[in-house]
Amino acid sequence: MTQHHVVIIGSGFGGLFAAKALKKSNVKITMIAETSHHLFQPLLYQVATGILSAGEISPATREVLHRQRNVEILLGTVEDIDVEAKIVHWSSLNRKRQTSYDTVIVAAGAGQSYFGNDHFATYAPGMKTIDDALELRARIFSAFELAEIEEDPAEIEKLLTFVVVGAGPTGVEMAGQIRELADKTLRGEYRNFDPSNARVILADGVDLPLSQFGEKLGNRTKTALEKLGVEVRTGTLVTEIDEHSVTMRAKDGSEEVVPCACKVWAAGVQGNPLGKNLTDQVGAEVDRAGRVLVNDDLTLPGRDDVFVVGDLMSYKNVPGVAQGAIQSARFVADLIDARVSGREPKRTVFEYKDKGSMATISKFEAVVSIGKLKLSGFIAWMAWLFLHLLHIAGFKNQLATLVRWFVSFMSNNRSARNITNQQMLGRLALQKLDKDEFDEIMSSVHNVQDETSESKNIDEGGAES
Ligand SMILES: Cc1cc2nc3c(=O)[nH]c(=O)nc-3n(C[C@H](O)[C@H](O)[C@H](O)COP(=O)(O)OP(=O)(O)OC[C@H]3O[C@@H](n4cnc5c(N)ncnc54)[C@H](O)[C@@H]3O)c2cc1C
Repeated sequence: MTQHHVVIIGSGFGGLFAAKALKKSNVKITMIAETSHHLFQPLLYQVATGILSAGEISPATREVLHRQRNVEILLGTVEDIDVEAKIVHWSSLNRKRQTSYDTVIVAAGAGQSYFGNDHFATYAPGMKTIDDALELRARIFSAFELAEIEEDPAEIEKLLTFVVVGAGPTGVEMAGQIRELADKTLRGEYRNFDPSNARVILADGVDLPLSQFGEKLGNRTKTALEKLGVEVRTGTLVTEIDEHSVTMRAKDGSEEVVPCACKVWAAGVQGNPLGKNLTDQVGAEVDRAGRVLVNDDLTLPGRDDVFVVGDLMSYKNVPGVAQGAIQSARFVADLIDARVSGREPKRTVFEYKDKGSMATISKFEAVVSIGKLKLSGFIAWMAWLFLHLLHIAGFKNQLATLVRWFVSFMSNNRSARNITNQQMLGRLALQKLDKDEFDEIMSSVHNVQDETSESKNIDEGGAES
């Protein structure tokens, strides 16, 4: 009898934890993900601001799972999941493939939403991937480099003004880090300007930063950010972004155009397009953020062989956080194992257990909210440090991160400050290529030819048929 074949799409928290939870099951797993690594998104801001190197928060998935013999890992982008035929269509560097499944777990996550203003993306990169973090790092550090050679005071002021949009954990962490970088790390390194004059503005329409942490911690965060020198503009909507400036509208309707070179977008998420791909086929729905409205057992309505987990699922009020992805992945893995082995599942309805939220504001300053328990300051920062370290995949990466943190927190030095033109320009340059130019470049890499007309089958064990 052939083994039950589970295809997992994505190698984030949802995908990885689903695969791990199926380790002892009598299933064959194929994980297809468009990145070769498992990314620890909560520390992306440290890559963007030069504390950590990309590799420390994104170990190769192959390495993480190399001892788990029932998993095969394939690098590729899934374009379509044909739920009737039970086939996943995907491609890897222009090579088209299709893989059939008995059960599919879709853990493709969410991307950035610009709330209908997609042109903002050109000037204000989001922060979801390693590419995003490296692009932001290049934009942040190059602003200081350009300020060193600029003579016009207005231009210098523009280069030294950083606007972060979105006062959730990512925005707060970015704003705090850019100020610390300017004030402490870069102190005394430039000859023609004082980096500590850098202006960091954190803008959001909500009334308090970290509003989801409650009023007390929101106020504490605002005070701590202001002490660092961040201008907190809550109750403020960003209405336009271009290469030179950000336009903000306050609650009283007044508008201000702030000249600035470097902008960071940390507001809004949009479910991966694969969500809509699924719901369109079965007449189900996605929510306003493009996430799939799933059944109580996290299946796609009408299909008990298609599960959606993590950031791509919309279920009750489960937040888009790592625990949401981990718990949903484990729940689904248990259901699949139960089906395959003929036992009763532990639970048939998914229940999310809120283990709390935390965010750092600056060195030694964080906020933690676990039910009624609200912590801030150094204790919260230690809790944040410990829990984040614990969740980084792989002992080697945990150790490397610990060493980096120790050096960086003790000395204010940051060892991952290297920037390249590729980081800064790669995304926008790729967008400018037409299909022929793109194919020409692809064929020069591993002689990859366009295979749009043909599609090969990979059913079991990676064998093509
Ligand atoms: C900057 C940032 C900071 C965060 N901080 C925190 C925090 O402090 N605490 C917390 O709990 N949570 C935090 N989160 C949220 C947390 O990281 C997410 O909730 C979690 O990563 C969701 O896991 P996921 O597996 O659903 O999606 P992801 O981790 O996004 O993984 C999606 C996977 O799908 C793959 N993929 C996407 N499209 C395709 C495709 N078409 N074909 C193949 N593969 C595809 C991707 O390559 C990736 O491997 C943060 C998120 C961000 C962006």
